[in-house]
Amino acid sequence: MKVVKSIAAMQRLSGRWRRAGRRIGLVPTMGFLHEGHLSLIRVARRRVGASGQVVVSIYVNPTQFGPAEDWVRYPRDLPRDLKACRAAGVDVVFAPSDAAMYPGKAAGRYSTYVVEEQLSQSMEGRTRPTHFRGVTTVVAKLFHLVQPDVAVFGAKDWQQAAVIRRMVTDLNFPVRMVIAPTVREPDGLAMSSRNKYLDPEQRRQATVLWQALRHARSRVGRTPIPAARLKKEIARLVAAASQAKLDYVEFFDPETLAPVARVSRGTHMALAVWVGKTRLIDNGRL
Ligand code: AMP
Repeated sequence: MKVVKSIAAMQRLSGRWRRAGRRIGLVPTMGFLHEGHLSLIRVARRRVGASGQVVVSIYVNPTQFGPAEDWVRYPRDLPRDLKACRAAGVDVVFAPSDAAMYPGKAAGRYSTYVVEEQLSQSMEGRTRPTHFRGVTTVVAKLFHLVQPDVAVFGAKDWQQAAVIRRMVTDLNFPVRMVIAPTVREPDGLAMSSRNKYLDPEQRRQATVLWQALRHARSRVGRTPIPAARLKKEIARLVAAASQAKLDYVEFFDPETLAPVARVSRGTHMALAVWVGKTRLIDNGRL
């Protein structure tokens, strides 16, 4: 397994692979890898085959964090991640520095961003106004550098996947997007690098996101229910956990992300909840 840190080295490698007709699969991550990330790596390997190249990028992208967010304290452990990638059969880990990814930024000379203007406005985009601009920018850069045939993303970040899919369509990236299912802890909590922030009591209360999803699933049946009513029920359920605070819960069409007034089978639900100082998200099809 190669560890690549420079832009030029990554470009040389992907150029060589493309000329040799190798298939390339990319799994973009912010590191501190868990079983959710590893499941994406397995999907990438299946898609490109044994002769293909699987690239995992590990980069805590500063432009997708707001000024008051957790970029500085976001968990990082590159040696452990490299070990996990090696064991998972990854070919290349691309772990660039901030100076390499955003040349001139420290001196105020970085000024080019990719902005998606529709799907990025609701939910995560409302609470985190510059988040998706950072995501689309870094993913566009990774696509240019790695030139993947296939890129694998997690359903855990449903809106993110929808925004990136739109960018791929709108900007004609020759990349096939694959969305892999959310991997959960035995008690239903979606795996996330941010779960590390939780103390034992908060970790226990964090299952409230999964309980909210299960509650909504139990309420959809043959007759549609008003979204407003279901939102109230979810708000009550979340409020019952003393350290949990609901940021938003939304019911929407899984493809267009358009909110629905009436919730029925196949409607998608997403929510964000503060548990102490940690903000967690989850989503699922009802
Ligand atoms: P992150 O490192 O959190 O930015 O996530 C990198 C990729 O892994 C994204 O495509 C996420 O959607 C995906 N991912 C994160 N957590 C999970 C999970 N529990 N199950 C499946 N995919 C996940």
